[in-house]
Amino acid sequence: MWSSLLSCDNVASELRNILAKDWVDYPYDFSHFSARLGFTIMNIFTQPSSDVQRRDPRYDILFESVQIGPVTAPNRFYCTPHAIGAGQQMPHTRAAMREIRAEGGWGVINTGYCSIHPSSDDTPLPFGRMWDDDDIKVHALMVDAVHEHGSLAGVELWHGGGGTGNKLSRMPLMSASGISSNSRYPGWINLAQSRPMSKDDIADFRRWHVNAAKRAKSAGFDIIYIYSGMGFGPYQFLLPWLNKREDEYGGSLKNRARLTREIVEDMRDAVGDSCAIALRFSSDELMKLPGELHETAAHDIIAELSDVPDLWDVKSSSWATETRSARFTESGAQEPLVKFVKPLTDKPVVGVGRFTSPDDMVSQIKRGVLDLIGAARPSIADPFLPRKIDEGREDEIRECIGCNICVSGYHDGVPIRCTQNPTVGEEWRRGWHPERIKPATSNGTVLVVGGGPAGLECALSLGKRGYQVTLAEARDQLGGRVSIESKLPGLASWARVRDYRTNLLRVMKNVDVYLNSELTVSEILEFGCDHAVIATGAHWTDDILDVNGAFPIPGFKCKNVFTPDDMFSGADPSGPVIVYDFNYYYMGSSMAELLVEQGKEVIYVTPANAVAAWTFMNNEASDIRSRMMDLGVKIILEQYLTAFDGSKAHLESVYSGQNPTSLNCGSIVVVGNRRSNDGLYHELLGNANVQSLGLTVQSIGDCNVPGIIAHAIYSGHEYAQNLDTKVPDIPFKIERPLLY
Ligand code: ADP
Ligand code: SF4
Repeated sequence: MWSSLLSCDNVASELRNILAKDWVDYPYDFSHFSARLGFTIMNIFTQPSSDVQRRDPRYDILFESVQIGPVTAPNRFYCTPHAIGAGQQMPHTRAAMREIRAEGGWGVINTGYCSIHPSSDDTPLPFGRMWDDDDIKVHALMVDAVHEHGSLAGVELWHGGGGTGNKLSRMPLMSASGISSNSRYPGWINLAQSRPMSKDDIADFRRWHVNAAKRAKSAGFDIIYIYSGMGFGPYQFLLPWLNKREDEYGGSLKNRARLTREIVEDMRDAVGDSCAIALRFSSDELMKLPGELHETAAHDIIAELSDVPDLWDVKSSSWATETRSARFTESGAQEPLVKFVKPLTDKPVVGVGRFTSPDDMVSQIKRGVLDLIGAARPSIADPFLPRKIDEGREDEIRECIGCNICVSGYHDGVPIRCTQNPTVGEEWRRGWHPERIKPATSNGTVLVVGGGPAGLECALSLGKRGYQVTLAEARDQLGGRVSIESKLPGLASWARVRDYRTNLLRVMKNVDVYLNSELTVSEILEFGCDHAVIATGAHWTDDILDVNGAFPIPGFKCKNVFTPDDMFSGADPSGPVIVYDFNYYYMGSSMAELLVEQGKEVIYVTPANAVAAWTFMNNEASDIRSRMMDLGVKIILEQYLTAFDGSKAHLESVYSGQNPTSLNCGSIVVVGNRRSNDGLYHELLGNANVQSLGLTVQSIGDCNVPGIIAHAIYSGHEYAQNLDTKVPDIPFKIERPLLY
């Protein structure tokens, strides 16, 4: 098979003529060629799409400038404030990440939340700070970098009120009436209560906002936010269930809105000559307000403050609902929370919606929903999204897949990572860029074995560097696990991981892609490349957990035990089916969902204390739990599965081996550990000819260590970045604190 592929390479130009019509008809359907010819060569069409450099006039409206108070946004692409996991301690990381978005064409780039005073301290989560003059230079670094590219820089000033922790500052929390918002923010529950704010506190609160605004102005910011949303500071005054005051700051809606109005007006007086004042506001809680005479309190507040700020930034009140994953929402899902705002104000309105399609963006503007297209996740996945639209390269947009791995980085207290964009967070410390990569430094040829996320990213990035690359994939389709998992309920957008890369590979002259090519050691040696990269993935095991140490041990040797791989291959377990989940991410619940779709009765069992326990990190936990309840999945928490005889399963509490229970069931799907498919890799390493041929061998992605898709993409990219480079022991720069 392999030798026939080699000879086929020589007749590529003939094949181009033969297949030209088929390519036009089936531009993405490699299996069509495969069925006809028994193999596929992808590099035979060499027209680079980057030849097209003009934007579609339909998108002109996105590139119109927008006046925001005293400043002008050069276009409608607006990076809304969002946490990037690099707090005040990482000024270079923050500046570099945001500069690249300015370079990529975003007209406005904002910081994440930036505390105005130690009485609002979100430690251990990574947040920005504007506490004293020494904080200014950290921000100036970012502002200068953003201005360098002609974009505006905004800062999201923030006081959490009773909705933060003050774990570092140890100052008492304060709020409108001493009622703390009882946030169900997963994994982040505060024990601290807050005290009611006195008139002096309110005066301080206003003064701290003004002082922070003045510092922001001297850092060079163009847009300065007051954050009156999401359960924070001034927003707590707006909500009647948190504001029980009887003074001029409580009671009527006008009174509850007073503090927000005062802060905007104070800030305008202090810095409004050159800086726009933006008001960030959550509408959803107020839209549900019971007993209001008018349509909703959110309408009334917008009407009350209508033209007070220079910009309305409207969002939803909890991060978990604002950044729902694609499994649970379509893009544009925020529209009902925002669309009532524009008719109530003459000021520009920005909102988000995980927009990656320029047509959707144009529709938002033309239908009068938004003036500025807000983005966090789409700008993380593709910092160059605006430039690509401007240059007529929409098909090269690296579309966000809505997986929320970025969110988990922030919760982990580390710079965000992204499934689609392996360079995010690495801009400064490793010098990685989402669009550019250093050229090849040798004529070495590379064979990448396996066309899953790791192999695809590796081949693409090596191809960009200019190496001669061959990618061989065993199956008749590229994408590996994403091609399989994107067929699971709600995960269709995950196929974008494959499609973005195959779309670019298709036009690369120096990358050959072969399908239906399961390589062996001898075929790899015979091929004669300089570098072999093994990206053969991993497989699910049916190992279970040892009840003592919670280590994996061999599973039940019984025919009614399945893994997710068995399910992907069409297994039909007899019900009731136990899904035993000690993987703790999406797959257990996805298996349950799939089985319910197949009409099976499903019992979800896990040693953890929550369904899909890890997913509080990426904001999916409550959606997954609700979905399981809606589907009628029976849930059993904090139990080990200890025995199964084919019809009865035994469970034991994770806290005590006492009172084991048994359940009648037809089969079990174990969602636990994965093991690398590294047989080929180790065989190669052990082959005597490898050294004599001078072949380097490296495993990447799941073959190297099983992990999430983001890790596989990162690993493939890292290999490509490092080829022909001596990597130092410490492979990146470190942000160092300033010593006094
Ligand atoms: P990763 O996430 O690390 O990219 P995947 O499991 O998604 O891993 O992809 C691995 C890919 O490697 C799969 O598409 C699989 O078909 C392919 N593969 C496995 N073994 C071979 C082999 N010997 N030759 C070519 N491709 C292989
Ligand atoms: Fe989008 Fe996922 Fe990247 Fe976040 S991690 S930006 S959700 S692709």
